[in-house]
Amino acid sequence: MLSYRHGYHAGNYADVLKHSVLLQVLKLMHKKPTPFAYIDTHAGAGGYALSDEFSQKTGEYLEGVAKLWGKEDLPEPLTEYIADVTHFNQGKPELSFYPGSPAFVDMNSYEKERMVLHELHGADHAQLEEQFSGDRYIRIVKDDGLKGLIAAVPPRERRGVILVDPSYEMKTDYQDVPNAIIKAHKKFATGVYMLWYPVVNRAQTEGMLKILAQSGIKNQLRIEQSVRADSDEFGMTAAGLWIINPPWKLDEAAKEILDYLSPLLNQGGGKVTMTLEVGE
Ligand code: SAM
Repeated sequence: MLSYRHGYHAGNYADVLKHSVLLQVLKLMHKKPTPFAYIDTHAGAGGYALSDEFSQKTGEYLEGVAKLWGKEDLPEPLTEYIADVTHFNQGKPELSFYPGSPAFVDMNSYEKERMVLHELHGADHAQLEEQFSGDRYIRIVKDDGLKGLIAAVPPRERRGVILVDPSYEMKTDYQDVPNAIIKAHKKFATGVYMLWYPVVNRAQTEGMLKILAQSGIKNQLRIEQSVRADSDEFGMTAAGLWIINPPWKLDEAAKEILDYLSPLLNQGGGKVTMTLEVGE
């Protein structure tokens, strides 16, 4: 039984980092003219109304995207991110809606570029269907995204961006997720794999990342923002992206993003980290 709903968290500080870096990955991938496939293992609903009961209950977006809304000094990667959020709000001055990862990719895809979206939750899957089912280049799969990932690689384009963005509802996710990525990488070694991770329990997160770092896979970059110091108390204190095969110069764009977000979204005691954990 899945209880996680991304609507509670849409547009929070973790989404700001995840989606702004994702956009830079797409932009850098588009520097080559050949198309690539986008595979989302945990796609969510595709878009969220910030006025709904979920967002209003937590107000998390107020500590995330809302802090960037209307800012005039954004660095280029965040200007591009906010431009997409604005587009999703139909250019209106109020921040009422927040795009999910499939919507961000859809706004930045070239004609005929394929997407494969996995979502297991009935309501979120139905919303995805409603938003994207008319597009023959988008396949929506109501099944386990980790299983779907293994089936979807290598993509026929031989180029691909894979977002692995689980809800970490089960403790076993902390082993199953890295093991699925390692298995997929054996079938498709040149793909760009973006794993999103939360820090709720630092040891648990590091245990998962260590499985990837010690897998023998080269070229693994960590981009992380903590908003508070690690703590034993309940709640997420940091979130990050662990990227295998980051496109060339992604680190430069990510640095611009982190430098801006760090003072803006810090809730006291936070810091940002970017390290090449495994080299080429
Ligand atoms: N990627 C989305 C975005 O950035 O907008 C957010 C995804 S949210 C963090 C995780 C999603 O995974 C939830 O919508 C949840 O219902 C879904 N989910 C949980 N377990 C899953 C599984 N085994 N396979 C596919 N989807 C799953």
